[in-house]
Amino acid sequence: MFLRQDTRPVRVGNLTIGGKNEVIIQSMCTTKTADVEATVAEILRLEEAGCQVVRVTVNNEEAAAAIKEIKKRIHIPLVADIHFNYKLALMAIENGIDKVRINPGNIGKREKVEAVVKACKEKGIPIRIGVNAGSLENHLIEKYGYPTPEAMVESALYHIGILEELDFHDIIVSLKASDVPMAIAAYTKAAEVIPYPLHLGITEAGTLFSGTVKSAAGLGALLSLGIGSTMRISLSADPVEEIKVGRELLKSFGLISDAATLVSCPTCGRLDIDLFSIANEVEEYISKIKVPIKVSVLGCAVNGPGEAREADIGIAGARGEGLLFRYGEMIRKVPEATMVEELKKEIDNIVKVYEET
Ligand code: SF4
Repeated sequence: MFLRQDTRPVRVGNLTIGGKNEVIIQSMCTTKTADVEATVAEILRLEEAGCQVVRVTVNNEEAAAAIKEIKKRIHIPLVADIHFNYKLALMAIENGIDKVRINPGNIGKREKVEAVVKACKEKGIPIRIGVNAGSLENHLIEKYGYPTPEAMVESALYHIGILEELDFHDIIVSLKASDVPMAIAAYTKAAEVIPYPLHLGITEAGTLFSGTVKSAAGLGALLSLGIGSTMRISLSADPVEEIKVGRELLKSFGLISDAATLVSCPTCGRLDIDLFSIANEVEEYISKIKVPIKVSVLGCAVNGPGEAREADIGIAGARGEGLLFRYGEMIRKVPEATMVEELKKEIDNIVKVYEET
């Protein structure tokens, strides 16, 4: 079994995916790539949200040409998503792309594959093989009858074989399906036989709500097994939401070191404060924090202090006031009206301590 830490480390721009490195969060632009202004603006918003690698579609020459200018204005590795057209891949590589997502078996003649591999080797660029349950090769559909995890892994091995035959090993592999159990099975089988980093994703997962649940179910199961070196949450929503969900998912498994976590209670009849709005405000506030602190927002002082003990800083509501806790010890009472501001001040102090040590 090639767990995350056992996979071959693969360089993508200034990052390394696989090996002992943290799980990298990716997203994909929704803009027309040739529209440089819109694409750069979207990438900068993604960067601010914590996106570490971003993919753009390269479906025509204008898109491939735009890569040069986009690269100058962003700060994270850029990936070209290419289907079939090796000339677009060569253009993207020439224009400074950091990774190419293309399936070598779909490029066509061997000379074309060789040209792409040669260009990638010269520039030190990896190739992501993207297997999708919905677009498996005809010979695999004929063999298996319909998409199966086995067929998906066989497809990945087929494309990997083409690259390995050309002595190319800077490979990342994804095996996406919109069916969660199928994706889990495909990735689990792939981890048994593929030594390259796996890029996780549930494709066409759905809207912000349903796609988040499906992605968390599928990717959570895989991450908990130690599978997956990079991932994308695919949502029919603003891609910034994909990053927020991805970071939250990694936090759940302690797989991210530059994010703060919120603990908040579901509330019950003991509640005497407006906890939902407080929790949302605090969540928004800590989303920009880049240190791994835990903040708790609890509805009452009955269970609050006990539940807040594991948090670095927290607040528990009481009638008309809040009790501020730091590392499980109550530090002071604050009026409800200033509770959130007081909590933010304490959060800032803790962040400062983290940053100084
Ligand atoms: Fe209810 Fe208090 Fe627990 Fe929140 S912390 S769920 S208000 S008992």
